[in-house]
Amino acid sequence: MAEARTEPRRPLPEVTELTEPFWQAAGEGRLVMQRCRACGELVWCPRPSCVECGGEELEWDALSGRGTVYSFTVIRQLAGRGARAFEKDIPYVIAWVDLEEGPRFYTNIVQCPVDDVEIGMEVEVVFDPAGDGISLPKFKPR
Ligand SMILES: [Zn+2]
Repeated sequence: MAEARTEPRRPLPEVTELTEPFWQAAGEGRLVMQRCRACGELVWCPRPSCVECGGEELEWDALSGRGTVYSFTVIRQLAGRGARAFEKDIPYVIAWVDLEEGPRFYTNIVQCPVDDVEIGMEVEVVFDPAGDGISLPKFKPR
């Protein structure tokens, strides 16, 4: 008997009470991060307290959405059943982007041929609707 072949579904981030403001803003096209009210440092990923000073008063701050590529890799093949959901994207780029405000952000580089991506490339955030109301921050050349 033939097995029903369903379109593999990409995993989505789990939205928690802690991360909900981040995903809410992303859905509105804004990149935000927590900032410590005591020492002023940005806190990434979302946490209940500041990694620099332990302060527990964190507020969400809008970022410019601009950065530069720190490092990247091109995904050209996938292994394992769970990866099937990404087959259509091959080749694609996974990157670390250094945001203008400091934090290093794990993301994809999009709207750019994979062979044109370079370390130091200036990029800006775009939001990719991924389903279930989630928009994923990705980066394109600027
Ligand atoms: Zn702090």
